[in-house]
Amino acid sequence: MDGRLNRPLRQYLRGIRFPETHDLISVPGGPKDIIDGEQGLFRLVDDVRLMLPRAKRLLLVQHTDCGAYGGRAKCGGTEAADREFQISQVRQARAELRKRVGNQLEVQTIVAHLRDSGLVRFVKFNE
Ligand SMILES: [Zn+2]
Repeated sequence: MDGRLNRPLRQYLRGIRFPETHDLISVPGGPKDIIDGEQGLFRLVDDVRLMLPRAKRLLLVQHTDCGAYGGRAKCGGTEAADREFQISQVRQARAELRKRVGNQLEVQTIVAHLRDSGLVRFVKFNE
């Protein structure tokens, strides 16, 4: 949901050969929504499963300096602290999603580390 990610994310997905025909759902603070409860993104995931039964994989991408969390200042204040915070958020969200979708969907998580310099580094987590 952050325009700073548009181009880097497209390049990253191309680099990992993610299918170009993927459906992209963009919501502010995705992991926050999953962790906070049954509304929002959880419901969206259920809708996607119903509407797109062919979907096999869900890629959850969160980023640092996320406005839904109050930006870097509210997430530790430094690039490193913000990154670690968002990693913990996607891990927690992934665990919640696994409970929700079981083995019906492969769930992968990525944190886009937006650096103050403008560079973006993607880090993938599968545990
Ligand atoms: Zn965000």
